[in-house]
Amino acid sequence: MPDARASRVFPRHTKASVPVAVRGEGCFIVDSDGKKYLDASGGAAVSCLGHSDPEVTQAIKDQLDRIAFAHTGFFTSEPAEALADRLIDRAPGDLSRVYFVSGGSEAVEAALKLARQYFLEIGQPQRRHIVARWQSYHGNTLGALSAGGNRWRREPFEPLLVSMSHVDPCYAYRYREPGESEEAYGIRAADALEAELQRLGPETVAAFVAEPVVGATLGAVTPAPGYFRRIREICDRHGVLLILDEVMCGMGRTGSLFACEQEGIAPDIACIAKGLGAGYQPIGAMLASQRIYDAIAAGSGFFQHGHTYLGHPAACAAGVAVFDKISGPAMLARVREMGGKLDAALRDRFGQHPNVGDIRGRGLFLGLELVEDRETKAPFDPAHGLAARIKKAAMARGLMCYPMSGTLDGRRGDHVLLAPPFIIDDTHVELIVDRLADAIGLALDSLEIAA
Ligand code: PMP
Repeated sequence: MPDARASRVFPRHTKASVPVAVRGEGCFIVDSDGKKYLDASGGAAVSCLGHSDPEVTQAIKDQLDRIAFAHTGFFTSEPAEALADRLIDRAPGDLSRVYFVSGGSEAVEAALKLARQYFLEIGQPQRRHIVARWQSYHGNTLGALSAGGNRWRREPFEPLLVSMSHVDPCYAYRYREPGESEEAYGIRAADALEAELQRLGPETVAAFVAEPVVGATLGAVTPAPGYFRRIREICDRHGVLLILDEVMCGMGRTGSLFACEQEGIAPDIACIAKGLGAGYQPIGAMLASQRIYDAIAAGSGFFQHGHTYLGHPAACAAGVAVFDKISGPAMLARVREMGGKLDAALRDRFGQHPNVGDIRGRGLFLGLELVEDRETKAPFDPAHGLAARIKKAAMARGLMCYPMSGTLDGRRGDHVLLAPPFIIDDTHVELIVDRLADAIGLALDSLEIAA
């Protein structure tokens, strides 16, 4: 491992040394010492096809041999058109236009700005508010961070953030009342949006933004049944656009191509990234409904936004090759089947664990919530940094998992997100659970030693 101080790359953590990744082998990453890490988190829900898919890399090479880059101010490209066609053919509702960007934050920025411009184009300039949810993550650029509801991530940059409002997420483990049914809770959670619209004045609100399955702040929190149908109704009633952020949970991760399909609704704007390029190229996309596109086309004719690398041909070529592998019924069925097996193995191993409060998720998008006390659901003292300890112990054991700290009424709760490649088999499931159990055990033991 190189000393972090010797590396000239600006690291995420200046005090920690990180291994050098040199090779990908299916579900594993190999470092410069030859150590293999089982990628149980797909990095951060990115590497849905593992790390050495020959067809995807060949598609990128072929595209580079043809043309690497053509600015979208001048051209479209064959791979961009091919990927747009594939996405639109399978997109829910009337999503009919695709705007390719380089990642998730850019997709969310584009969505927020498109929502605002849409209302200007149709003569409703008073619609200026965006409502989002606490305990969400929408990216780290300032607009996306303003929508995000992770207090810890927001705090240092609060003076720079755009004013947006936040409602509680649908998070049954924490917020469902004793005796309340899942369905009743789902309606109650969605009605928080209605109340917020009434507070702001519904005619002043442009959009509501949410992740169908919450990823990077809470670790695979699925919505209560009916929650999103109610959200859709509320948005429709008040003419508010629904933006779904499927950057993490989309592209097959939960067992359907778009996570919202399982909620029986479609958004006005969808954001995708991560699994779209599967890590082979940086790419994200915003999908917009025909109605929104028509308003821009009939109005100014120009979406007032853009980046240099929009629709990058090599990135789109990767996207086409990835899409053709992940979007078929066999692969989606595999995600559901292997997700079911991983979920069962996690429940078997951690179901009675005194510090695992909740096991949840959908498809190959699963999470554990760690608590100090299962009865009271009290989280660990954030000073312990439990999530970081788990990550360190897991890496030592050759396992990549994605531990994270969500904020909970001002406190931070610890979660572990698992989002392995769709190509995992039964052996990988066993390895993930064994190594994770070791890592959690070691991390908890280290707390006792530290105390
Ligand atoms: N939205 C969601 C739901 C995400 O999980 C992420 C990344 N974790 C983003 C947006 C931001 O994506 P990126 O890191 O590619 O900018």
